[in-house]
Amino acid sequence: MHTDTALVHLGRETAAAAVNPPIVRASTIVFDRLAAYKQAQHGRLFDAPRYGRSGTATTFELQRTMAALEGTEACIATASGLAALTAVLAAHAGPGRHLLLCAGLYGPARTYAETELARAGTLIETFAHDEDITHRLRSTTSLVCVETPASLTMQMLDLRAICAAASARGIPVACDSTWGTPVFFRPHALGISLSIHAATKFIGGHSDGLLGLITGTHDAMAPVRSYCDRSGTHATPDACWMALRGLRTLAVRMRRHQETALAVAHWLQTRPEVRRVLYPALESDPGHALWRQQFSGAGGPFSIELQPCSEAQFARLVDGLQLFSLGTSWGGFESLVLPAVPHHLRGLTTLPDEGRLVRLHVGLEDAGDLCDDLAQAFAQM
Ligand SMILES: *Cc1c(COP(=O)(O)O)cnc(C)c1O
Repeated sequence: MHTDTALVHLGRETAAAAVNPPIVRASTIVFDRLAAYKQAQHGRLFDAPRYGRSGTATTFELQRTMAALEGTEACIATASGLAALTAVLAAHAGPGRHLLLCAGLYGPARTYAETELARAGTLIETFAHDEDITHRLRSTTSLVCVETPASLTMQMLDLRAICAAASARGIPVACDSTWGTPVFFRPHALGISLSIHAATKFIGGHSDGLLGLITGTHDAMAPVRSYCDRSGTHATPDACWMALRGLRTLAVRMRRHQETALAVAHWLQTRPEVRRVLYPALESDPGHALWRQQFSGAGGPFSIELQPCSEAQFARLVDGLQLFSLGTSWGGFESLVLPAVPHHLRGLTTLPDEGRLVRLHVGLEDAGDLCDDLAQAFAQM
């Protein structure tokens, strides 16, 4: 089944006569007989009703759908994208173990590893997006964790090379796949063991829910599954239901985000206020060849590097925008602007120079209206 069809037809097993499955909210699950209760305790966690914390029918619908969309066996939903990342990292951490993270990994996940996990005796190291990781792997390396393209700097990684180096030593590679979504990115086909999504972004698509999703084979998911069980990371059935609904329109939304983002990016390249547009979907981008190899599309968001300007000019630009709201996150139907926070760039070997980095999420508005909005804000700047 093509992804577009799967998005429409999967995840409706418990719908009965309705088109959409109802939300099942539960803490307590009751059983008819002792034998059924015992059987549930021996089943795989997060795959069947046991206790609310390991999910309800709504959770399982979403998890089965997501595993199928990613072409793998299992999925676990978590409270947020960050909770999914920290669960994967913590499940592979421990005294004497070594975690190798790409420098462009989502900032709060890196901070979590460098504080909480390092404090408990895990060695945390980072590598640059264009580095050959072969010599960075150790006998104690338990996980390589990447995000492509990198948050904010939009640098691409050579995932095939990274997976080949890691798998030669039996080390799993986890990848934050939020930007590509299952519509444009097939992480497991490239050799990724664990794929992580902030479903808060494109999958939810409406800026009204937080959710994380982790997918992989049953074997690859085993440590993550036990960690999630022990730590109580839990996605609410309501958030899972909203993500299922978001999936129905994901393919059309992604193609429209891509079309509009490309139009806005090309227009930005003609502007004197803009030094560089960082978007792997552009032929001028240094990551374009890798993007073409690994992705079948690009929804955005992307970043721009401005020509050097004063703080006051920068404030006039951001404050002058009417259609781009100022806020964290992306992936919703509405356009957003965010000044790139230096905190997220820490440790990158190729820091952009003095020009300010700004991240744009191009929503589902008309491309011409968005360019007009940017033009009038540049004029105020
Ligand atoms: C937003 C984001 C996250 C975190 O997701 P939350 O649901 O906000 O915790 C993780 N990874 C990437 C790439 C993100 O953009």
